[in-house]
Amino acid sequence: MLPVNPNSRISAQGFVDNVTKTTCLPDWMKTVFVANGHDLQIAAKFKGSYTFPKGTKPAWFDPWLIAATSAWQQDEWELTTGTLEMKPKDLSIMVPDGVSIGKFDPDHNWTNFPVLGTDDTGAGGITVPTQDTKDGLNALSDADLHYSGVIVKPGKTGKARGAIVIVDRIKDLKGGLSQMNANDITGTLFHELFHAGQISAGLPNSHKDKRFETVIQVIAAQFDGCTAP
Ligand SMILES: [Zn+2]
Repeated sequence: MLPVNPNSRISAQGFVDNVTKTTCLPDWMKTVFVANGHDLQIAAKFKGSYTFPKGTKPAWFDPWLIAATSAWQQDEWELTTGTLEMKPKDLSIMVPDGVSIGKFDPDHNWTNFPVLGTDDTGAGGITVPTQDTKDGLNALSDADLHYSGVIVKPGKTGKARGAIVIVDRIKDLKGGLSQMNANDITGTLFHELFHAGQISAGLPNSHKDKRFETVIQVIAAQFDGCTAP
């Protein structure tokens, strides 16, 4: 399952609605997700031998779907929204909703660690594992991640889940808020689910990895230059 955090500004159905509204995807692909209460799911028809309308399946879709399916199978993630706060000198901080992102120091004290971005790699969203998942990654040669080694703070109860954070609004230097549109949100959702799925599958998940970057670039291109929703 992929539960949506109770503090997310976008519900499971809200994510489905954004995907439905995007102008960047062929119609059949807009039906890839369904909502079941607080849970976002991959529609059952995509789990079997779905017959794609001829000539409409981009090359990235199969590797993406395989990765995304791993994220669901491992059941180690939750989805939430976040605010990208613009700071002076082209810096930005991502503030996720309902989860704490940070690090434990050697004495096991928690420090929140703002996710700083200076370019576009972290602007739309971020995928942050749990300590357990991170420990597993560090055992692999593909351990390199494109964030600064932060993890999701474990809750006192319930299953520990990594966070897939989708930026849904931007706060400018004067505190003004602007909302991301359905194309932005859907593009980020596909992007971050590829990160999470590759992590769950034990496959390359860093922008520094050529195999990862080849797929993620064509996903980005899918969401580039389409008309406003
Ligand atoms: Zn990325």
